[in-house]
Amino acid sequence: MSKTEADYLKKIQIWWLLKDMKNRLIKEGEIFWGENGSEGSIGYKLWLTPDFPRLALSYTVGEEKKEIKYVIPIIQTDCNFGSTRFWFQCSLYKNGERCGRRVGVLYKTGDYFGCRYCHELTYRTRNQNTSSAHHGLYECVKLSKKMEDLQEKVKRFTWRGRPTKKYRRLLQIQARLEGYYRALDAAGELGPKE
Ligand SMILES: [Zn+2]
Repeated sequence: MSKTEADYLKKIQIWWLLKDMKNRLIKEGEIFWGENGSEGSIGYKLWLTPDFPRLALSYTVGEEKKEIKYVIPIIQTDCNFGSTRFWFQCSLYKNGERCGRRVGVLYKTGDYFGCRYCHELTYRTRNQNTSSAHHGLYECVKLSKKMEDLQEKVKRFTWRGRPTKKYRRLLQIQARLEGYYRALDAAGELGPKE
């Protein structure tokens, strides 16, 4: 299996997708990469309706413009203090089994979007002169890995009305991660763009 570097990939980040969803449950549109979609674009429709929150994607691939349509479930988790978090649930199959991982970013390799595990991404700092943005991306990956490991370990979120130690750690990492992503996005290092 060849490995792919994540920085060249198209990606969809949940926080980006949700940033104008405060007062609505459904939206649809297109996601572009590159200048005016020079690197590609996809159509999407997003539902945050409680029955089945989901993201539907549709686009064409290859010379023959094969049409691809599928749905990625969105998982909602309750945080303390009344807030809610959303995640993509990776819908790719490997060896006949659905991945199902809860992730904040989907990457495209080949024809589909899925989590980084499924795509066996590798990230590396290229050399000492890597731009700070690339370094940031590398940090992001380390942090997301940490966060995902922690997510598996967090058995309970509160104990006697207070966030547990592991859960507090998770929230801290999450906040750092979001900070990185925002910085990277501002630096123009990450798609998608509207
Ligand atoms: Zn996956």
